[in-house]
Amino acid sequence: MRSPIPEYLDEVLRNCADDRAGAVADYVPELAAADPEQLAVAVSAVDGTVYEAGDSRSAFTIQSISKPFVYALALADRGCEAVLARIGVEPSGEAFNELSLEEGSARPRNPMINVGALTAHTLAGPPGAPREERFERIVAGISAFAGRRLEVDEAVCRSEWGTAHRNLAIAHMLRGYEVIEEDAPRVVADYIRQCSLLVTTRDLALMAATLANGGVQPVTGEQVVSREVVRQVLSVMTTCGMYDAAGDWVTTVGIPAKSGVSGGILGALPGQVGIGVLSPRLDRHGNSVRGVRVCERLSADMGLHLMEAP
Ligand code: GLU
Repeated sequence: MRSPIPEYLDEVLRNCADDRAGAVADYVPELAAADPEQLAVAVSAVDGTVYEAGDSRSAFTIQSISKPFVYALALADRGCEAVLARIGVEPSGEAFNELSLEEGSARPRNPMINVGALTAHTLAGPPGAPREERFERIVAGISAFAGRRLEVDEAVCRSEWGTAHRNLAIAHMLRGYEVIEEDAPRVVADYIRQCSLLVTTRDLALMAATLANGGVQPVTGEQVVSREVVRQVLSVMTTCGMYDAAGDWVTTVGIPAKSGVSGGILGALPGQVGIGVLSPRLDRHGNSVRGVRVCERLSADMGLHLMEAP
């Protein structure tokens, strides 16, 4: 007999398939070419059993969902104290691409907005490592969460570079305040490559399951990062992961999560499940419209809200 879970996931997708609200991100021309009808969900148990429905094997660029993972690598490579000295953990209440730093300390407010993510990018790998080595650390590190080697979508990467004015402005600001010490355009170029890594919804579920499983990738068995690093990352995802709708998200869905402009959402509930969702149309905050609906359903039906007693 077929397990009822895939049938349930099919039903969840069917239930929101007609919702055509929102719009595909178009500030990167190549992202505007995404098929707006794509819809997928994957759920991984912490033992690595994955249930999936819809276009769960279609690849799309990871975009901002790379941010918690690069933050995790920075914490693993430099230690929490050194990273906290450079990047705060407070929600910003501002757009993801705002040019702003904490007053007084000149730190980015958190690693989930671009100003903090560009800084976190520079803190992955050993201090002073050449850029190529650092980038390889990032690709290998994010791949270890997924349990397979990820590749860069060169077309999306080139396309984003052509419209990267805002990220260049942020990086120059960071250089001006000596938060980063390297050539600003190069940092942006590498950060955009990081955002252009291709993942599937199934990958997102397994990456999330690795976080939910205390940093151990459930299929490969690799301890990718420590439990302490996972705790820090999930905490920041809870308060800052869903752009400027983190409060709405945590009250309705209640799962540490991160979304990205290509329409993906990744959610990780410690000790329980990793969730990946894809649907490219975004709401005014930048979160996937149908992706949020799918997560609301899963959270309600499976009793996943963090603040609810089992
Ligand atoms: N590459 C994107 C940027 O930095 C990522 C944005 C996102 O997914 O929020 O603008």
